[in-house]
Amino acid sequence: MKINLTRMQKGEVNSLPFEFDYSISLEEQFETAGIIEATPIHISGKVAQVSSEMILEMTLTGELTFQCSRCLDATMFSLNRSFQKRLTNEESDDLETVPYTGYNIDLEETIIEEIVVSLPAQVLCNEDCKGLCPVCGVNLNNTTCNCDKEKINPHFEVLDDFFS
Ligand SMILES: [Zn+2]
Ligand SMILES: [Zn+2]
Repeated sequence: MKINLTRMQKGEVNSLPFEFDYSISLEEQFETAGIIEATPIHISGKVAQVSSEMILEMTLTGELTFQCSRCLDATMFSLNRSFQKRLTNEESDDLETVPYTGYNIDLEETIIEEIVVSLPAQVLCNEDCKGLCPVCGVNLNNTTCNCDKEKINPHFEVLDDFFS
């Protein structure tokens, strides 16, 4: 995940392209994000010298599988994010900059940050997803039931049963 900047700092090149696949760790990095499965994230981009500054350009693509927020069915989300940030060798809290030290820049933290901000707050298999019956737990997209749905609320009691 490290890009060696030496050749650019010496003025030998003014662009350092890169391309690789990055496997995210669902347990360690995305524990609470609700992702069930993820393809390796394809990373491509370059570090470019633009007048006196070094600019990082990056595109992240991949397929993430979530549970539908209503019916819990596996639902695909396509990650596709492109951005530019300025490299800096000074301390900075600015999210538009990426810190580097010496001759290397480590992209891992930036990759994770950008994936996190791309994640949807809610994933639905379909905008009209009917969800689960709050009484018997059947998936109302596939089947119907005769439960009196007015009776039981909230939702959560049944979801608890559904998981146990
Ligand atoms: Zn659904
Ligand atoms: Zn029912």
